[in-house]
Amino acid sequence: MTSYLERLNPEQREAVETVDGPLLVLAGAGTGKTRVLTTRFAHILLSGRASPGQVLAVTFTNRASREMRERVAVILGRPVEGLWLGTFHALCARMLRRHAEYVGLTSSFTILDTDDQLRLLKQVMELHRIDIKRWPAPGLMGAIQRWKDRGLTPDRITPSEDTDFAGGKARQIYGDYQERLRQLNAADFGDLMLHIVEILRTRPDVLAQYHRAFRYILVDEYQDTNTIQYLWLRLLAQREGFPSNICCVGDDDQSIYSWRGAEVENILRFEKDFPGATIVRLESNYRSTAPILGAASGLIAHNEGRMGKTLRPGREDSQGDKVLIASVWDSDEEARLVGERIEQLHREGNTLSEMAILVRAGFQTRAFEERMITLGLPYRVIGGMRFYERAEIRDAIAYMRAMNQPSDDLAFERIINLPRRGVGDVALSALHSRARADRVPMTEAVLRLLADGTLKGRVRDQLGQLMATLERGRIGLAEAAQGEQIAPVHIRVVETLLEESGYIDMWKRDKSPDAPGRLDNLKELVRALVDFETLGGFLEHVSLVMENDENAGADRVNLMTLHGAKGLEFDNVFLPGWEEGLFPSQRTMDESGNKGLEEERRLAYVGITRARKRALISHAANRRIYANWQSSIPSRFIDEIPEEHAERMGSTSLAREQLRNAPTVFSGQFPLMAKRPRAIESWEQPGRAPRSDTLAPGTRVFHQKFGYGIVKSADDNKLDVEFEKAGFKRVLDNYVQQVSE
Ligand code: ATP
Ligand code: MG
Repeated sequence: MTSYLERLNPEQREAVETVDGPLLVLAGAGTGKTRVLTTRFAHILLSGRASPGQVLAVTFTNRASREMRERVAVILGRPVEGLWLGTFHALCARMLRRHAEYVGLTSSFTILDTDDQLRLLKQVMELHRIDIKRWPAPGLMGAIQRWKDRGLTPDRITPSEDTDFAGGKARQIYGDYQERLRQLNAADFGDLMLHIVEILRTRPDVLAQYHRAFRYILVDEYQDTNTIQYLWLRLLAQREGFPSNICCVGDDDQSIYSWRGAEVENILRFEKDFPGATIVRLESNYRSTAPILGAASGLIAHNEGRMGKTLRPGREDSQGDKVLIASVWDSDEEARLVGERIEQLHREGNTLSEMAILVRAGFQTRAFEERMITLGLPYRVIGGMRFYERAEIRDAIAYMRAMNQPSDDLAFERIINLPRRGVGDVALSALHSRARADRVPMTEAVLRLLADGTLKGRVRDQLGQLMATLERGRIGLAEAAQGEQIAPVHIRVVETLLEESGYIDMWKRDKSPDAPGRLDNLKELVRALVDFETLGGFLEHVSLVMENDENAGADRVNLMTLHGAKGLEFDNVFLPGWEEGLFPSQRTMDESGNKGLEEERRLAYVGITRARKRALISHAANRRIYANWQSSIPSRFIDEIPEEHAERMGSTSLAREQLRNAPTVFSGQFPLMAKRPRAIESWEQPGRAPRSDTLAPGTRVFHQKFGYGIVKSADDNKLDVEFEKAGFKRVLDNYVQQVSE
């Protein structure tokens, strides 16, 4: 037997060797679905059934494509060229370039990014005299994308499908938008699939060409295909008088993209669409230890609509540590705990790249990123930007810098027209020349141009307001510095700044799908301020964090969202933030009810099953919402993990003690465990819970900025602390936490 087949179990081998005819591999996480697909690819080539260019292989991410290419090459013992291997979009873009003329484009068409799409759509809406304030463009953009996901060109939308957008004008605007794209020789992301499906539907000659070209089709993560992807696959695979050599692998329990139009029903339809299909089930999991599997299986069993699959440990060394479940006091402590565990595992010889922190929402990476930086542990954020590199964070920081330092021209220029204040090129160049001529910073130039009447109309009003907002902020900061009021004055100042400037509103009005995540990031940014006594201190910290290495070696801790972790595996997986409202996400449950909850649970299943050896789930009893504390209760998913596979641990330091004392210590500030809190409260929540316990001299404490130290004396709300590294400092007591010896 050929050696690569020996590395498979009998069911896997059946899936690889059943080369002709349709085949569906339906199996749980870590059972080797992707391995089967890769081996099958190599097997088809090695057995001479097809040349590399005659196999069409679809993966969910570019990274997965790269991995598959590499592994096929390893089995073949040589690099392979000319593959049709990629994501749906990549493959469709390649096809569309060949046949662009059939949809009125040329082969050099441009692919628009989301900003361009929106700008174009707004122009079309203006031509239709739509009141953009009442009917925001991003909402319609979303509707158009969903239509495209379902393969609906404008002419295919029945009046009943039309939304009530702007009095039923959506379909018409969609049509005009498509027309404009064509005039510009451009396609948006959804068009890549929509156009090619349209071509395959209407041009039998083109379809026949691909039928001849592709002898075999391979699809990974089939449970997350949406309608248009499904249509495309079906067109390519179904050929009159020939068997469909299509092999799809998937797991209904890992369907986590229904919010992007994925239809798990595509799996159910497989046998109907491809009569005579072979169904192979794989039941041995080779990835994870028995406790990890037990935990994941017990959890997912709480979902109703499941196909039901058996999953049993297939690793020889399947015994292992139970899944750790840690209760911590707050998010800072959670980050510390994870950091400590990572250091410990690292000391014990585990590589950092075999560790991953998987979060539910992008904003959660911040606390961990900062912890990694403090500990000097290299990390990378996969599938997303590092927190402080995200656009909205940079904008907000530019606001803070412009307020803190009036001569910071770079920061000021970033925000001067954000949100739009009608500052066009003309006004901007007038400002620049004035600043140069008078040798003053831009902010001063604005004031002078306002004073001498050069700026007029809307620009004058809006810039006048901006300058006033910045100035009010500076006064607030100055008052804070005089110590008249205890911090967190600067937090309130920043909140006010972001609100009054209209920046927060800009994102609140934005109806695009990523706007809520950006607002969460902004809230998280304000939350980060709590750890600093002055805005200046915070900004300095940020500039240091932003400079942090990009080129440290390859061994780094991985940070990413649960969605981004699909298909991947790591020895050690950290799953923080398992709290009601955060995970399961309140937003998802509000929008999609029980279906949403089940999808969240599948996401939890995906998370746990990424781990080979160890998984640590954590939840914090308190999260900061701005300067306020909000108590939170453990995610229901934690209770759904069978006890025999879990080991509960208190946190390393103070959590237990404080948890017990919490209701009295905080004198009614916390509606502790009273109701399921929402993860994200409304934006307006200034103020901070005062601390009413006292930290006696001799108490060991932790300060986010200065680290560990011993309290020397205490009065009112101030403490004198001898820090181990930073030396003697006077700090506000609500910036420190007591830690055990
Ligand atoms: P997911 O659902 O998470 O995408 P999967 O079903 O695609 O998982 P793979 O990633 O292909 O699973 O395999 C999981 C792990 O098990 C991999 O490390 C793979 O190399 C290993 N593996 C798969 N089959 C076998 C086998 N027969 N013997 C030993 N190891 C195996
Ligand atoms: Mg896989």
